[in-house]
Amino acid sequence: MIGIDLVWFKRDLRTHDHVPLLSAALSGRPVLCLFIIETERFELEDTDPIHIQWELDCARNLSVNLKKLGAELHFKKGDCIKILEEINQQFHIKRILSHEETGNYWSYQRDKKVSEWCESEKILWIEYPNNGVIRRLKNRDGWKKRRDERMRMSLSDPPIFKHTIPFNRKIPEIEDLILNPRVLQNRPEPGENAALKRLHKFLQKDGKKYSWAISSPTLSVKHGSGLSPYFSVGALSLRRAVQETSSRINYIKKNKSQLEGHAEWIKSLNSFRTRLAWRCHFIQKLEMEPDLDLKAQNPIIESNMNRILDPEKFNRWKEGTTGWPFFDACMRQLTSTGWINFRMRAMMMSAASYNLWLPWRDTGRFLARQFLDYEPGIHWSQVGMQSGTTGINTIRAYSMTKQGKDQDPDGDYIRKWIPELSMVPTNFIHEPWLMPESLQNSISCRIGIEYPEPIVDELVTRKEGVSRSYSARNSEKAREISKKVLKVHGSRRRPRRKSKKMSSTTQKKLF
Ligand SMILES: Cc1cc2nc3c(=O)[nH]c(=O)nc-3n(C[C@H](O)[C@H](O)[C@H](O)COP(=O)(O)OP(=O)(O)OC[C@H]3O[C@@H](n4cnc5c(N)ncnc54)[C@H](O)[C@@H]3O)c2cc1C
Repeated sequence: MIGIDLVWFKRDLRTHDHVPLLSAALSGRPVLCLFIIETERFELEDTDPIHIQWELDCARNLSVNLKKLGAELHFKKGDCIKILEEINQQFHIKRILSHEETGNYWSYQRDKKVSEWCESEKILWIEYPNNGVIRRLKNRDGWKKRRDERMRMSLSDPPIFKHTIPFNRKIPEIEDLILNPRVLQNRPEPGENAALKRLHKFLQKDGKKYSWAISSPTLSVKHGSGLSPYFSVGALSLRRAVQETSSRINYIKKNKSQLEGHAEWIKSLNSFRTRLAWRCHFIQKLEMEPDLDLKAQNPIIESNMNRILDPEKFNRWKEGTTGWPFFDACMRQLTSTGWINFRMRAMMMSAASYNLWLPWRDTGRFLARQFLDYEPGIHWSQVGMQSGTTGINTIRAYSMTKQGKDQDPDGDYIRKWIPELSMVPTNFIHEPWLMPESLQNSISCRIGIEYPEPIVDELVTRKEGVSRSYSARNSEKAREISKKVLKVHGSRRRPRRKSKKMSSTTQKKLF
C-alpha cells in the first residue's frame, strides 16, 4: 500500500495561501482532505454553538472550492484520534499535513495526544507555520524581524489535484449536530470567497475612514475591516491581508495626485496594517504560554486582588441591565450580533474588572462565547491586560458615561439598542437617573422600574477599582513576576517619548 497524505484542516479553512494543501498536491500520493468537528469541544466553557456553526458554514464553502480543484472535503464528527485511527486503518496514512494551531489549552493538549499517536503509528505529522506566530521562542528578541519575513513570503495559489479520496456526503447543518446556536443579526457571509470580497471592498472603498471610525461602535461596523471572523477560522490568510494592504498603500502613494483623500487613505491603511501585526503579537503570547486562558500572567497580582463573582453583578453585566445606558447598549449589540469594536470590548472588561470587581476568567469566558471571532491568543491576552492582571500594562479604566457622550452624543445608538430608553430626551440619555420624576412618568421610563438604576456608582467604584489594582501590584513578589512577564512577552519596540505634560494621573483620566 503506498499510503495517503492527509491534509487536516483546522482553523485554516481556505484554498489560497495554504502550504499543507500545496505540499500534498505535489507529493504524488492520493490526498484526503479532512475537517473534523470534535464533539468534546461542545463541553468547553469558551466554545459556543455560534462558533461551531460558523466553522461548518465556512467549511461548506471550502468544500465547494476544493471540488473545483479536484478534491473532496471529508467531514467527520467525534474524537480526533479515533477518527484518524479509522482513516489510517482504511487508507494507511503516510503523512498528516496541517498548519500549526495556537488555540486554547484544550487544543494544545489535543495536539500533544495527536503527536504521540503519530509517533506510535510511525506517521509523519508536518505542521506548517501559520501566519506570524513563531514556535519554540523563549522570548521576544528578534521576533518582529522573523514575523515580517514571514509576511513577505510569496502567496501560493490553490493547487490542482490528480488523485484524491472521494467523499460523497454533504457537510451537515448545525441542527444535525443537535446544537442550537442563538441567531445572530447581520452575521457576515461565511467562507473564503466572502472573506476575499470583504478584504477588497475594505481596501478599495470602506477603509478610507478607518482611522477615525474604529472607536465608534456604529461607524466601525462599516469602516472597520470586519475580517476578524474570517481570520479566526483561517478563511483568509493574514499574509494575504498584509500583502494586499501594502500593495494598496503603494498604489495610493504612486497615484496620489489623482486620488482624492489620499492622505486619509494612507493614514487609515497604515493603522490597519499595524493592527494586523498586533494580531500576531498577541497570539504569540499564547503560543509561548499555552495556559493563558486558565492562569493569570501575574498570579500574585490576581491573588492580591481577590475579586469575587457576585452573581447579581455578573448577571446584570452579562444581560446589559447595569443601568449605564451606553454600556448596556454595547452589551446588547454584542450579544445580538456577535461582534463589537475594540474600544467597547476593552470598556466591557474594564467595567467588569474595576467597577464591578468581577474575576477575569468568568467574564472572559462569557465574552469568548459572544464573539463570533473568538481567537484565544488575542482574547486571553486582552482579557489579562484589560483586567490589570499582567502587571506590565497601564491600567485602563474607562468611563462609560464619557465613552457614551464621545461616541453617541445624540443617544441614537442607545435608543436603538435599549427600547426602554427610546423616549428619553438627549440631555438625559447618558444619565437617565437624573430625570425628574414627572418626566419619568410622562415618558413611561421610571428608573428602577422600566430601566434599572445604575448598579453601582460609576465614578466611585472606578476610582476604588483602579486604586485596589495598583495596590495589588505593590508587593515585591508581584513586581518580580511582572519583570519576568515583561522579559518574555514585552514588545521590543522602543517606547514613544511621553509628553512632558502627561503625568500618570492624567494618563488615568484619559479613557
Ligand atoms: C477584551 C478583548 C477581547 C478581544 N477578543 C478578540 C477575539 O477573541 N478575537 C479577535 O479577533 N479580536 C479580539 N479582540 C481585538 C479586537 O477587538 C478585534 O480584533 C477587532 O475588534 C476585530 O474587528 P475587525 O476585524 O473589524 O478589526 P480591524 O480594526 O479591522 O483590524 C483588523 C484585524 O487586526 C487584528 N486586530 C485588531 N485589533 C487588534 C487588537 N487590539 N489586538 C490584536 N489584534 C487586533 C484583528 O485580527 C482584526 O481582524 C479583543 C479585544 C479586547 C479588548
